[in-house]
Amino acid sequence: MHIEKNQEIHLLNRPEGMPLPENFELVTVPVNEIGEGEVLVKNNWMSVDPYMRGRMIDRESYIAPFALGKVLDGGAIGEVIESNNPAFSVGSKVAHMSGWREYFISDGKDLQPLPASPIPEQAFLGVLGMPGMTAYTGLLTIGELKKGDNVFVSAASGAVGSIVCQIAKLKGCYVVGSVGSDVKAEYLKHELGVDAVINYKESQDLTADLAKACPNGIDVYFENVGGAHLEAALNVMNDHGRIAVCGMIDQYNATEPVPGPTNLGQIIVKKLKLQGFIVFEHWDNYPTFVQQMGQWIQEGTISYKETVYQGIESAPEAFIGLFTGKNTGKMLVKLG
Ligand code: NDP
Repeated sequence: MHIEKNQEIHLLNRPEGMPLPENFELVTVPVNEIGEGEVLVKNNWMSVDPYMRGRMIDRESYIAPFALGKVLDGGAIGEVIESNNPAFSVGSKVAHMSGWREYFISDGKDLQPLPASPIPEQAFLGVLGMPGMTAYTGLLTIGELKKGDNVFVSAASGAVGSIVCQIAKLKGCYVVGSVGSDVKAEYLKHELGVDAVINYKESQDLTADLAKACPNGIDVYFENVGGAHLEAALNVMNDHGRIAVCGMIDQYNATEPVPGPTNLGQIIVKKLKLQGFIVFEHWDNYPTFVQQMGQWIQEGTISYKETVYQGIESAPEAFIGLFTGKNTGKMLVKLG
C-alpha cells in the first residue's frame, strides 16, 4: 500500500524559552510499499510529554536531542494495517516510539504488541504506560512510601501526579497536591480523594500554605516542578523525609541558569534523602506494574483522566499546552 498523504511534525528550529507553534512544521511525506519482513503501521494516538522539551535543546543528556528538520518521535499507539511479518497480523495494536506521524514502516523490532485488555488502548500512553510507571516507581521505590506517610505532590493533576495522589491514598497516606487552577483543585478533592490542595498560582506564601495544608509535616515529597515548590517542601519536610525528584517543569523553558532553593541546608538539618530517577532504568518492573495498575483500574480503585487534542496538526499546540496547564490527566493527540 502506498500512502501519499502521510503527515508528520518536524522540529523546524529550537525553542528559546516557551515553545511556539513556529518551532514546528507540518510536513507531508509519502510512505512507500512495505518490503520483506516489514509492516505498515497507522498511528491512532500519540503522546506529548514534558521531557520532550529537553530533547529540543542540543545538549548531551540521558536521551539524544531531536534533530532539526526531521520528524519528532515519542510514545504512540498504532494498528498494523499491512504486514509482511508473521509476528504481526493485520489489525494488531502496537505501542512504539514513532509518534508525531500518521503512518510508518517498521521491521517489527521497535513494536510492542499491546496486551489484550478491556482498558482503552490509549491508556498505555498514560496510566498503564510511562507516566503511570513513573508515578508507581517514584512513589514506592524512590520515595519508599510507608502507610500513614504525609505526602506532598506537585503538578498533582497531571499524568504522573494524579496517579501518585491515588496510589498514596490507597496506601493509607495523608495527601496534599499542588495545582494551577481551582477547577483542578476540585478534581483532586472530589475525584481523587486528596486531603488538601494548594493552588500555587494564587498562593502569596507557598511555605505558609503548605505548612497549613500539612499539619503533620511532609514525609514524602513527589517533586514534579522544582523552584519555589522545592523550597517550600524543604521547609515543611519532616526529619528523615524522602524527596523523589521526578521532574522540574518550572525550569524546562528557562533561558538563563535557574537559582537553586535558598534553603538546601534543610537537607542536612532534617537528614533528608533526595533521589532523582529516570523511569526507563526501572523498566524491568513494568510487567509487575502493569498487572497491578490494570487490577486497580478494573476494581475502580484508580481512575484516570485524559485531555485529547484532535489531529496531527494539533500536536504542537498540545505539547505547548503542557507548560501552560491546559491538561488534566494525560495529554494526548488522537490521530486519524
Ligand atoms: P503533566 O501531565 O503533569 O503536565 C504538566 C503539568 O505541569 C501542567 O498541566 C501544569 O499543571 C504543570 N506545570 C506546567 N508548568 C508549570 C510550572 N512552571 N510550575 C508548576 N506547574 C507547572 O506532565 P507529566 O505528568 O507527564 O510529567 C510531570 C513531571 O514528571 C514533569 O516534570 C516531567 O518532566 C516528569 N517526568 C519524569 C519522568 C522521569 O523518568 N523522571 C518520567 C515522566 C515524567 P498546572 O495547571 O497545575 O500548573
